Amino acid sequence: MNKKSLVGLNLSELQEFVLSLGGSKFRATQIYNGIYLKSYKSFDEMTDLPLSFREQLNEQCELSDVKLKDKQVSSDGTMKFLFELADGNVTEAVLMRFDNRANLTACISSQVGCPMGCSFCATAKLGFKRNLTTDEILKQIYLIQADTTLKVTNIVFMGQGEPLLNLDNVLPAIDRLREDFKIGSRRITVSTCGIIPGIKKLAEIKFQPTVAISLHSANPEIRQSVMPVEKKYKIKDVVEELRKLTVVTGRRVTIEYILIKDLNDSPKAAKELCELISKLKCNVNLILYNENEYCDYKKPTRDAVLKFKCIVEASGKKVTVRLERGADIDAACGQLSSKYKK
Ligand code: SF4
Repeated sequence: MNKKSLVGLNLSELQEFVLSLGGSKFRATQIYNGIYLKSYKSFDEMTDLPLSFREQLNEQCELSDVKLKDKQVSSDGTMKFLFELADGNVTEAVLMRFDNRANLTACISSQVGCPMGCSFCATAKLGFKRNLTTDEILKQIYLIQADTTLKVTNIVFMGQGEPLLNLDNVLPAIDRLREDFKIGSRRITVSTCGIIPGIKKLAEIKFQPTVAISLHSANPEIRQSVMPVEKKYKIKDVVEELRKLTVVTGRRVTIEYILIKDLNDSPKAAKELCELISKLKCNVNLILYNENEYCDYKKPTRDAVLKFKCIVEASGKKVTVRLERGADIDAACGQLSSKYKK
């Protein structure tokens, strides 16, 4: 018989379950805190529960049916986690600390693999398997916290998958991240490659977390050559939908732009970007391409990055250059799963 998995249950669901075992609402609250605030790895660590009740829990349920399968730690402290789901599929997440600040950012997955086929992305090589459920999304955070004993403070949906193709599970997961893991909206970012119906949906619900767009080229031909989604949803139309979104939410969107040598890192490309986003309330995040064995693209030169940054800044946008994280541990999305698949 499959044991019931408790991570992912909210407080009232936990209460119902614990009452069915003959326990009390108070015991349910202790388990709830043990999962979401203390991220205990096992019932045995919940020493505020009576021993006999812990034994009963061990017999009848488990904390998580998603298991930590592998972990790599980079010399810069970035950690990459590979998770095995109950059906044997695997997915992954990355934990990063920026600029020695206290914030710990978990980059999590929303799907197993990804259907979008971006040519620079290791996940695309895996193909698409399925959407992650709300519980599976939440279990990534629980397992990271349980393994590291650290509190995740920020979440970015930038791991495997296109979150806007799985909003039915991603939106409830975001509610639960706020309610159960106590991670505020402003500390959550959802990144999309430009799924217009999904952006419209976010506008409808006045979505408060940050929305990031993986833009990577303002030139439709170049963009389509690396991001097949451009064929269906033109970047010009995507930017217009994002503009409407910023009007209803009052929030800035983030432009994610991976600089790839000789593809999209020229001054001309920077000027095209400035023109495309001139009316959009946004910040620009430039990311240096993370070279890997799965794609032939190269990292831009320092000079190209500085020129690109200066041009976009001169247009009045706030620009940050994201440092390469975890280059020695396959931290670009899909790389760890690709290795596992081999
Ligand atoms: S970059 Fe993102 S959207 Fe594109 S294939 Fe990779 S995971 Fe999917």
